[in-house]
Amino acid sequence: MDIIVEKPKTKGKEYLKNWIPYSIKRYWTYLAVTIVGLVLPWITINGNHLFLLNFDQKKLHFAGIAFDMQELYLMPFLLMLLFLGIFALTAVGGRAWCGWFCPQTIFRVIYRDLIETKILGMRKRITNKQKDPDMSLASNQIKRVVAILIWSSLALLAAANFMWYFVPPEDFFAYLANPAEHMVLISFLLGIALFLVVDVIFIKENFCVYICPYSRVQSVLYDKDTVMAIYDPHRGGEIYNGHGNDRIKQFSKQKDLLVVEPNAECTTCESCVTVCPTHIDIRKGLQLECINCLECVDACTKVMGALGKPSLVRWSSEKETIAQEGKTKYLRSKTIMYFVALSLVFVTLLIMGSKKETMLLNIDKTTRPYKILEDGKTVENDYLMLITNTDAKAHDFYIEIVGNKNITITRPTEPFHMSAGAKKKTVVVLSTKEILNKDVDKDLSIPVHIKAFAVDDKAKIHTTQETVFVYPSTNQLKK
Ligand code: SF4
Ligand code: SF4
Repeated sequence: MDIIVEKPKTKGKEYLKNWIPYSIKRYWTYLAVTIVGLVLPWITINGNHLFLLNFDQKKLHFAGIAFDMQELYLMPFLLMLLFLGIFALTAVGGRAWCGWFCPQTIFRVIYRDLIETKILGMRKRITNKQKDPDMSLASNQIKRVVAILIWSSLALLAAANFMWYFVPPEDFFAYLANPAEHMVLISFLLGIALFLVVDVIFIKENFCVYICPYSRVQSVLYDKDTVMAIYDPHRGGEIYNGHGNDRIKQFSKQKDLLVVEPNAECTTCESCVTVCPTHIDIRKGLQLECINCLECVDACTKVMGALGKPSLVRWSSEKETIAQEGKTKYLRSKTIMYFVALSLVFVTLLIMGSKKETMLLNIDKTTRPYKILEDGKTVENDYLMLITNTDAKAHDFYIEIVGNKNITITRPTEPFHMSAGAKKKTVVVLSTKEILNKDVDKDLSIPVHIKAFAVDDKAKIHTTQETVFVYPSTNQLKK
């Protein structure tokens, strides 16, 4: 490979004058993600949460609307949005989710960089993430206990925050006040907090490398235009034997360190290596372990910037930096397809969400086909009716028969009151005194439409269900 030597453009200090490291941008993103994550479960609109999957009350709250479990047709659309969103983000920005938004990465930055390094000084420098604290020192052993205690408190908060998406905060604190009766909730809370302590303190980035399934699938979502942390071997030189465009080869760690080519710009200072939280050397090319945190880009920008040159590791694409086939194409068939699919799912979700039912009705005929009363004329059919008031207000409900004047409602005789979100199971009896079947031997099934409605808002809150009224043969009627 020909080495392209970049001439210093300006003096080092000037070069870095207006530079804002990616790590600063990431910290701001972490702060925003944390605030949104903490505040979102508390926001309510008309008493409903912005997002809540409440197993206790069997409700999904989405955008301030409460959906009953029977209305969970929205759930697949939400999951599609989530997965398509992550796929699209991966195609455009590699593992940007991992480095910039994933709670695992945020928690590790809080524990390793903030608690262990900045607050307790257990690690010497934030730029060396590979060297673990020296635990032979008594002071570090004490600090480790303090670090575990600090993180355990934060892990409890994070676990509670996670649970607020399933148990609304107002109920959560009421349940906590009475722990003996809510042992399941307490167990979940402590279990999640314990997992976070073990994960963040002991499993560390091994979670991203070996456990997280996303790291296994992300490489198939990449293409030559996907942007990620990429080392420029044209300027920096081949540091390892085997750097090339062959992806399989690039994932291999079996590369030998070469003697650096004399014209190569890489100073082999290893700053990009020591700063890497997943302990990889970006100069070996694209690797599964890279979480796109761009710490190596910052590290090299500092080193090369001091020499008045651009960084050798950049947030760029394989096409731009390795193949040198021109600028990265953000709008390409793959990303346009994701954008169209995401838009379609989002619009469908909005349409479905706006058509929220204000009541649900289910009517099943009982096993007895009919009953002939003693007068020999009146025929009755029984049904089991389940009504759910999914509106935010209480209403009086009643039913009527649509389009059939021969059949009347015998029971219930009066409207019944239902509070918001309540369900009611009741027996409905329909009857007729008219002769509706002239067949001597065969019973007749007559379609009937039963409309249930809120008495105080019939125009808006109503629903209709079709069932059958079974009328006996004339032989049966005579018996
Ligand atoms: S190589 Fe390491 S430091 Fe660089 S982006 Fe990937 S994970 Fe971060
Ligand atoms: S930080 Fe830059 S100059 Fe230093 S080893 Fe890494 S790529 Fe080479």
